[in-house]
This record gives sequence, C-alpha cells and structure tokens, in this order.
Amino acid sequence: MNKIAAPKGTGDIYFPEIGKWQYLEDKIRNYFSRFLYKEIRTPIFEHSELFSRGIGSETDVVQKEMYTFQDKAGRSLTLRPENTASVVRAAIENNLFNEMFPLRFFYIGPMFRYEKPQKGRMRQFHQFGIEVFADKSARVDAEVIYAAFNFLKEIHLCGTEVEISSVGCGQCRPGFLEKLKTAAKEQEKELCGECQRRIETNPLRIFDCKNESCIKISAAFPKMIEHLCGECDTHFAELQTALQVLKVEYKINPRIVRGLDYYTKTAFEITSNQLGAQNAVLGGGRYDNLSNELGGPDIVGTGFAAGMERIILHLQDIDRKQRKTILVAYQNPALLDHALRLCETLWSSGIHAYMEYDAKNLKKQFKKGDRISADYTFILGDEELQHNTISVKDMKAREQITIKQEDLEQWLKTNI
Ligand SMILES: [Zn+2]
Ligand SMILES: [Zn+2]
Repeated sequence: MNKIAAPKGTGDIYFPEIGKWQYLEDKIRNYFSRFLYKEIRTPIFEHSELFSRGIGSETDVVQKEMYTFQDKAGRSLTLRPENTASVVRAAIENNLFNEMFPLRFFYIGPMFRYEKPQKGRMRQFHQFGIEVFADKSARVDAEVIYAAFNFLKEIHLCGTEVEISSVGCGQCRPGFLEKLKTAAKEQEKELCGECQRRIETNPLRIFDCKNESCIKISAAFPKMIEHLCGECDTHFAELQTALQVLKVEYKINPRIVRGLDYYTKTAFEITSNQLGAQNAVLGGGRYDNLSNELGGPDIVGTGFAAGMERIILHLQDIDRKQRKTILVAYQNPALLDHALRLCETLWSSGIHAYMEYDAKNLKKQFKKGDRISADYTFILGDEELQHNTISVKDMKAREQITIKQEDLEQWLKTNI
C-alpha cells in the first residue's frame, strides 16, 4: 500500500516542538486578559461571500489564495484565510455589539491560504490576534500597538521595530488614488505585469510589490500620508502622541498598505530582524467600515493579527519549569497490580507518573525511565511489599532511600 502524506503546506506538530506552541498559547491567553480581551472561536469555514465582501474581491488573498469549495448542497464555502471578517460577522450575528462590554476579543487558530510553502509560511498556518470595537480614538490604536509590541518583548523576541502609517478614509482616499493612478500610468511600461493590472484594480497594492524596479519607481509616487483629510491627519498625529506616552518607539513607513481592503486610517507592522532580514511578524490597523460592509451597524474596529509559525521560529528554547515525573517500577510481574495501585495514587494527586506493563525485569523499566526523563523511580519489590515501604531512587543524584507508605504523601509534598 502507498503511504499517505499530509497535504503540501501542512504539517504535524508534536513533542518537543509542541511545547513552544503551548507556551505561546498560554502566554497569549494570560497576557491579553490584562487588557480585558476575551477569547472568541469562530468556524474554520464560512460563506465565501464573507471574505469577498469583507477582505475585498481585488485582493491577492481573495483572487488567488482562498480554499473555496462547494458543499453537497451547492453552497460556496471557504476555509478562513484570516479571522477579522469572521469576528465581525460573529459580533453582528450574536448581537455582541449591544450585549458585551468591553468589545475586546482575542483569537488563536489555523487559517488557510493557497501560497507557495516556504520556511515559516504554510498553507495551513496559525494566527493569533486581537480586535477592539466601538472606539474611534487614535489612543486605542496606540494601545493595540503597545500591547502587541510588549507582548513580543515578553516572549523575548528581539530586534523588533514598529512601523506605522495611515491609509486614509473614504473622504481622502479616492482623490489620492486618482493621483496615484496618474503617476503610475506615466510609468506603466516600467512596472511589472502584476502592477500594470493593479493600476486600475487596486493601485495601493503597487507599494506591496516585491519586484525591485517596482519598489524603485513607486518610491517617487505620491504618498497617502501626504494626502490625508483633516480628520485622518489629526488621527495620525494623535496616534503618534499616544505612542510616545506609552513609550513605544516607532518609525513612519508610508509604504505600509496592508494586504486587505478593509483598513482605514491607522496601519502598522512590527518586524523582527531575528531571522536575518527584517521580517514582518505582526500587522494590523483600523477598519472603520468593515461592520457596515458586512451588513452590520456602524461600529468601528481596530486590531492586529500575528503569524505564529514565524514567532515559533524565533522563540528561544523554553526554560519552562517542567513538572517532575515518576517512573513506577516493579521487581517481578506478580507485583504489577501493586504498582498500578501506586500509580493511581500518584495520578489522583495530580502527579506525572508512568509505568510499563510488560517489562520482565527492572533494567528494562529503568531504560524506559531514561526515555521519559524520570526524576524519581519508585521501586516495588517483595521486600517493600512485606514492610509496606517504597524504595525511591533519585535519578539525577543516583541515590536511593526507602520511605514508608504512610509517609508517601509528606514525601511528595516536599519533593515534587
Ligand atoms: Zn480621511
Ligand atoms: Zn510590481
């Protein structure tokens, strides 16, 4: 029979790597609750329309990268490529905008995009993120950036840099886009095929192009931050003041446009140089019209999403204190049930314990003890049984003592 492999761009996560994932997930849950975020879990697949309307039908994500399929009833469904549109959909559908306070959510989970797999980029990848609703203030954007920046600091991700920009609003963006189109048309022949197409469909995305000649040419194009309306300009200034209050160092990078259409005003990225080149680990911004676009009330929003694979690659080895583990060993198979009873006592006290069920001798059991990195081995032999004792071997110190069964509880309290 042929072996069956996992689909391209997906992978299995298991010990010891899984330890980093659990560490990161624990940190996310603990850290963001400091700012009163509550977890939300939305479905892995949604109606395709949610993403074409929410993210924008002209974006790369919607045009090229979605896993879209028909179910047996002929509905068009899509594996979620990101989570913000789903969170907004869930808030509208469950009336959370009226019923919850504060309107702050965090999420952790897999997302799906049909992209070329490479190191740190998978087709099933994982993101965590936060969303805050119903707060127009630039200060809440600053708080979101502060929370993101300090989170990366707390998990010891080095070389991080905050870059901010503004992508304007419905008042100032259309006029700017016309100016941008005119400038791009003048240089049309020098741009790559993709960018030539973008001039009409989504000219902002020219700033995202990785093609070197496009980068050079677009450097001279007009910038959104130079064409903001009064309201957006004030918002951008207030954002910067608040970042200074929160002691977050930042750089203005007018090329940040974000890949998704729903952003308004604040857009930001946090990069890290820990993998060599400066790489974005996290991005976000404000999306004041998304709820409206999805048929919901006029509720503004702001947040970020972070790729977990990249963060995991950057994570130093976890110095998390491991729980101590006990191997329960028996001298001969006649003592199996006595050993099992002892194991049960340990498990029911919340202690990590393990025993082998078909080992013929102690030596074999000790070998397994090495493989589970046991801190102690409890040995039951005929003699121990007769005297109601347990022989306890400290595997690191290589010392052995004998304790009475009735002193077991006290010994566990002191040593485990
Ligand atoms: Zn504006
Ligand atoms: Zn290009």
